[in-house]
Amino acid sequence: MSLTATIFDIQHFSLHDGPGVRSTVFFKGCPLSCFWCSNPESQHMFPEVLYYRSQCKQCGACLAACPEGLLHVEDGRVKRAQGCKACGQCTAACRYGAQILSGKKMSVSEVCDEVHQHWRIFMQSGGGVTCSGGEPMAQFPFLFELLKTLHEDIGLNTCIETCGFSSWENYRKILPYIDELYMDIKHMDSTMHQRGTGRGNEIILSNIRNMAQAGKDVTIRVPLIPSFNDTDENLEQLAGFMRGNGLRRVEFMPMHVYGRSKYEALGRTLDVDESRPPRTEVAVACLEAAGIEAAVQHL
Ligand code: SF4
Ligand code: SF4
Repeated sequence: MSLTATIFDIQHFSLHDGPGVRSTVFFKGCPLSCFWCSNPESQHMFPEVLYYRSQCKQCGACLAACPEGLLHVEDGRVKRAQGCKACGQCTAACRYGAQILSGKKMSVSEVCDEVHQHWRIFMQSGGGVTCSGGEPMAQFPFLFELLKTLHEDIGLNTCIETCGFSSWENYRKILPYIDELYMDIKHMDSTMHQRGTGRGNEIILSNIRNMAQAGKDVTIRVPLIPSFNDTDENLEQLAGFMRGNGLRRVEFMPMHVYGRSKYEALGRTLDVDESRPPRTEVAVACLEAAGIEAAVQHL
C-alpha cells in the first residue's frame, strides 16, 4: 500500500521558502504548540473544518449535507456538535466558502504529480520543492519517500523547514535528499521554550549542533515574538550559540496576527501581546555584530 500523509495546502510560486520559485507542501500536525502560531490549522494532525461566519449566508445547505446530522444554526451561526469525522460533505455543499476542510490524505505520487507541473519554473529560477508545516518530520516515513523521489528520481532541488523536534536518526536519514535546510530556534532558554511552545529546546539545539557538525549549511529561523524572545539576553545567547557552532545565517520573522480569523474559524482564540511590535532592528544588529548574516522575512 502506498504511503500517505495529511497535507493541508500546496502553495505554488513561493518566493520565501528557499532559493528561486518554489512549491511549498504544508504537512498537517506539529509536536510544538507555539502560542503565536499563525497557522492554527497546521497544529493537529487530523483534518479539521474551519467555519467563517462572515461568509455564511445561512442557506442551510451544509446542515442538509452532513450525514451525521451534526450541524445546526444558533445565534446566527452554524454550530457543529461533537463527532465530526471531517468527511467534507458540508464543505463541498457550501457555495460561499464559509466551510473549509483543512487537511487531506495524499500519496507520494499525488504530491509529486502536483508539484512537477511547475518543473519549468523551478529550472528557470533555480527553485524547487519545500516541505513545511506544521512539521514535516512528524510524518517521517512519507517525508522520507517524498524527498527521495523528488531529489533522486525527479532531480528537483529540495528543502525542508523544520522546528527541529524529531530524532537525530531521522534527520540523518534525510540528509542525502535535501539541498536546503531551515531550522527554527524559538528561545535559547529551555524553560521559556517550554512555556512558549509546550516543549523544551534540548532536542532542537542538539539536532542543530549535529547538522552543523555534519557540514550541512543550515539557515536558522526565529519567529520574533515581543516580550518573549526579542530580549537582549536571548538575542545575545542566540548569537553565541550560532557563532559557537559555525552557523552563519539567521532569518527573523516578526510576529503577525493575520491568522486571527483562522483561530475564530476553528472556535479558538489567538492570545498574543500586540501592545508593541517585536524588536526587529535590535535583533538584526545584535546578530550582525556577532558576524552573522541576519535578514528579516515578513511572512
Ligand atoms: S465534515 Fe462531515 S461530519 Fe463533519 S460536520 Fe461536515 S458533513 Fe458533518
Ligand atoms: S452551506 Fe455555507 S453559507 Fe450555507 S449555511 Fe452552511 S456554511 Fe453557511
